[in-house]
Amino acid sequence: MFEYQAKELLRRAGVPVPRGVVVTGDPRPADLAGLDEPLVLKAFGAGLVHKSDAGAVALDLRRSQVAEAAARMRAALAGRGIAPAGFLVEEQAAAGVELIVGLVRDPGFGPVLLAGLGGVWAEALRDTSVRLCPVSEADARGMLAALRGAALLRGYRGRPGVDVDAVVKLLMTVGGAGGLWERLELGEFEVNPVIAAPSGVTAVDARYLPAAGRAGSPTAAPAVAVPSAPSGPMVAAGGGAGGGAGFAALFEPRAVAVVGASTTRPNFGNMFLDFYRAAGMPVVAVHPEAREVAGVPAVPSLAEAAGVDYALVAVPAERCAGVVRQAAGIPYTQVMSGGFGEAGRPELEAELLAAARAAGTRLLGPNCMGVYCPRGRQTFTGGGLGPPGTIALVSQSGGLAGEVVKVGERRGLAFSRVATVGNAADVTPAELLRWLSRDGETRAVGLYLEDPRDGRALYEALAATVLPVVLLVGGRSTQGRRAAASHTGGLVSDGRIWRALAEQTGATFVTSQDDLIGVLAFFQAHGSRPVTGDGVLVVGPSGGASVLAADAFDRAGVRLDPLPGEVHGDLRELGLGAGSALANPLEVPVGPRGRPELVPRVLAAVARRRPYRDVVAHVNVQSFFTYGTAAEPLLGYARALAGAQDALPGARVTLVTRNAECAPAGVEDEIRAIAAAAGVPVYRSMEAAAVAVAAGGRHGTA
Ligand code: ADP
Ligand code: MG
Repeated sequence: MFEYQAKELLRRAGVPVPRGVVVTGDPRPADLAGLDEPLVLKAFGAGLVHKSDAGAVALDLRRSQVAEAAARMRAALAGRGIAPAGFLVEEQAAAGVELIVGLVRDPGFGPVLLAGLGGVWAEALRDTSVRLCPVSEADARGMLAALRGAALLRGYRGRPGVDVDAVVKLLMTVGGAGGLWERLELGEFEVNPVIAAPSGVTAVDARYLPAAGRAGSPTAAPAVAVPSAPSGPMVAAGGGAGGGAGFAALFEPRAVAVVGASTTRPNFGNMFLDFYRAAGMPVVAVHPEAREVAGVPAVPSLAEAAGVDYALVAVPAERCAGVVRQAAGIPYTQVMSGGFGEAGRPELEAELLAAARAAGTRLLGPNCMGVYCPRGRQTFTGGGLGPPGTIALVSQSGGLAGEVVKVGERRGLAFSRVATVGNAADVTPAELLRWLSRDGETRAVGLYLEDPRDGRALYEALAATVLPVVLLVGGRSTQGRRAAASHTGGLVSDGRIWRALAEQTGATFVTSQDDLIGVLAFFQAHGSRPVTGDGVLVVGPSGGASVLAADAFDRAGVRLDPLPGEVHGDLRELGLGAGSALANPLEVPVGPRGRPELVPRVLAAVARRRPYRDVVAHVNVQSFFTYGTAAEPLLGYARALAGAQDALPGARVTLVTRNAECAPAGVEDEIRAIAAAAGVPVYRSMEAAAVAVAAGGRHGTA
């Protein structure tokens, strides 16, 4: 499709484009009679993609100059071996801010809208934002606001601002509900540039590259189909016995069967027998000959494992499908073994999935560790079950899930449901998220994902859930994108789409396991606490740490509003501010010789004048053991702070124990226990607390 045809598509969708004429021979003055000068001449034809690069754009022409310019252009193009099919002569739009608006189809996430500073410098500027289609109007405005060059749109150096509403309208026409993205069999579609001016927008270049193998009339093409991985309602997808009950039996099976444990050489299967026995889960082994494996009763085949809701398969990849075929009547089968799609053997994975479908069992994995649910005695880790709780986790990595469970529990997290999905051949993260959103036991969900394959369904599940979701993505930087013919394609990376996904759905995007645990801990402690105020107040000892605290919150995108003037007198009465300013962060003496009740009194005084949504109290643990010798003053401070939360309805209190490594063994645990009993989350660094408080800002506001 040539430029003028893509522009016609835009014009019909209501987007202003320059008036122009298309000629296949040489343009004659009579052809141009209806056009206002100055004029632009562009050649079109096969092989003419980036026209400026080929010398196929001439600007600022008078009507009388067009014929000669066309002759010169034809000659120059001939020198490059290009014979243009014709010329587009169009009116030249007045100068303005040149923007790029584009659509690409991401293999995992489907249609993605891109907007940014454009024109011939688009790739040099690389100042763009992306969002998944369909975008909302708020998304569209957010995309423009997020540009480094946003000031250009608002007006700068005496120039007037551009018609931002018209730009937003264009973004909605392309990427909003019912927009072009639904009608084009993408490919890539790109308007570069659209010239934005105070009086509106004009799309002066447009390009449409249908997806390979899908060429054809874009308008006649069927609506873009949502790529459907097996992510539909589970009843339809699997038809297994687990269907009607959702995933309840996955997390709380009556009994489990383990296939692959050995009587002679202990392996993964044997390890799981141990885990299940320790957890008190009724378990049966499946073994071709033995009637007992490591003290666990055994049956010769899955078909003979009665009353079992969950089968764990740990046999070599080639034998897994055969085992799964026997799982009829067992709602869930976990294939632990690797060696499938991830090892370059997709045909083995397809065979496995077919076997699961035939048996009517839902398949978890392959290549996954399984499920952890203290309430249901489900486990894939040693060291016993932790306490049942309200935090769910879905992970594409079994190893990482194990770490988050163990480290998280050490830090006070309590889990409702943890599922590892491995290659997610059948049960997908999106499907689990949909179910968890309706699960009465779960209050917040962590996701660790590496593969955007199920991206479209995930987007929909994230958009639909009311639970706070924390998203950690691995491998964002290593996944390169295919070389793209358009600017848009080259400007979209997987990492940016993941971030856009979080941005659009209100999920919290984190970049480390530590922050995944930290933000989940915040939601666990504070999730059900309604907050009335707004803003964040930081209190703690004076000095550089206080200054750095402000920087940490700044980086996390949280502004620390100054204290209201009325509170200054109250604080001075409490002895604060002698010789120093009363600011936020608020400096309050906290140390071995400080008064533990001072901070609660300060907080109460502030709250009377201005309720803050979050109060972050930090303490330098090291000072208690350098200038003091006993743990008690520190514990006393923790107790006073824990009490402060009860006295501050509508506010969430968070504690930061800086330099906790300087405390004698056990003291940190005591502080955590005091704080946990009062529903106060504890962080070891201001940075971690800032990320969590920023995430909490999106939730809990009454
Ligand atoms: P390319 O194929 O190189 O992207 P374009 O059609 O975008 O070619 O033209 C290159 C540049 O020329 C644009 O970035 C814009 O600055 C300018 N231009 C092209 N057409 C017009 C027009 N009708 N009005 C104003 N400027 C134009
Ligand atoms: Mg262009």
